[in-house]
Amino acid sequence: MKNTLLNQQLIKFIQQSPTPFHAALEIRNTLLDAGFVALAESDPWKLEAGGRYLVVRNDSSIVAFTLAATAPADTGFRMVGAHTDSPCLHVKPQPQNLNQGYQQLGVEVYGGALLNPWFDRDLSIAGRISYRNTAQQLGNTLIDFTDPVAIIPSLAIHLDRDANKLRSINPQQHLPVILMQQQDDDIDFDFNVLLLDHARQQHPDLDIEAVLDFELSLYDCQPPALVGLKQDFIASARLDNLLSCFIGLRALLDSADARSKLLVCNDHEEVGSASACGADGPFLKSVLQRICPEPEALARCIHQSWLISADNAHGIHPNYADKHDTNHGPLLNKGPVIKTNANQRYASNSETAGLFRHLCQQSGVPLQSFVVRSDMACGSTIGPLTASTIGVRTLDIGVPTFAMHSIRELAGTRDTGYMHRALKEFFDWQA
Ligand SMILES: [Zn+2]
Repeated sequence: MKNTLLNQQLIKFIQQSPTPFHAALEIRNTLLDAGFVALAESDPWKLEAGGRYLVVRNDSSIVAFTLAATAPADTGFRMVGAHTDSPCLHVKPQPQNLNQGYQQLGVEVYGGALLNPWFDRDLSIAGRISYRNTAQQLGNTLIDFTDPVAIIPSLAIHLDRDANKLRSINPQQHLPVILMQQQDDDIDFDFNVLLLDHARQQHPDLDIEAVLDFELSLYDCQPPALVGLKQDFIASARLDNLLSCFIGLRALLDSADARSKLLVCNDHEEVGSASACGADGPFLKSVLQRICPEPEALARCIHQSWLISADNAHGIHPNYADKHDTNHGPLLNKGPVIKTNANQRYASNSETAGLFRHLCQQSGVPLQSFVVRSDMACGSTIGPLTASTIGVRTLDIGVPTFAMHSIRELAGTRDTGYMHRALKEFFDWQA
């Protein structure tokens, strides 16, 4: 196993980021520690050459950028994009349900989650609440129960003899989580009161009077782990796509500031990206417009920029090898994967892929290729959406993984280092 420090940092980042809100906050705090200045979208901006800035939208998407001595219109940005969200179970607005004496919460599936692995896990709850304080002011803050407060037990095989062949999951019926068994003194149990108590306990300084609304999701309490006889793998929730957020962040901070650089981490990729803070929305474009207010300067900046969209790829699984095209089966720990699709489900083209191949060759990073089988549908990511929204040259890459969209995914411990080296080379690249 290589890259011990980087992998330990990644594990810590994922643990501290159970939701996109927490991920954006972690990224923000790391950037602030590195001297970045936080800009509010509602304030006037005064940007300076040599400056390092960050902007957060919806508490869940973040853009960080550095301005080199040369004007962005003259040299453009080296941009890396990733997404802060992962498929999961969201708590419904009025979730409480008493069933057979068990207090349960109704959940809504967020994104294309693989549902089977959510059973028999020690689950906790985290996310954002919107509140009113005792001075009648409104605000948002993050909460995290941290303890395993919920579980979805499987139905025993004795009650479903065909479970291994035929079991399917009805999300409405089979996914409500169990919070507790109702006792006599729990008769007045109210989820909203629980939230209020928890929010006050976690944030005594905010003087919270009422929780007005919430966006909460369930997550697995099991911490990420290095696994395999030789620790070849990282097993963790949310590797898609917190791995790319973290490696992109590290590469941004570890590279020189000779060129203008930008990192964008968007929420809502797993549900199509069409939102105020998603990659199919106006967030990044608005930031670029404020950096280059003159239309011609903006156009020149965009046309000299490059975007690498980093999102995990499917490694070829030894037990399901026929799911890949024979010549395009990326292996874990053999380097980042260039993702290509003739129908533009990925934004890579020969120009952007050519640049990345060149940079990887220069820095000794092995590289792999993925194209989906011709008889299967292809996934997509923020690359094509950002490319079509902004008009920037884009490349889609990612580290190969197994079990994408499971509650516990698997990546290679060497690939994090390869990805970091490749993205750092990109940020440092002097055209
Ligand atoms: Zn993803």
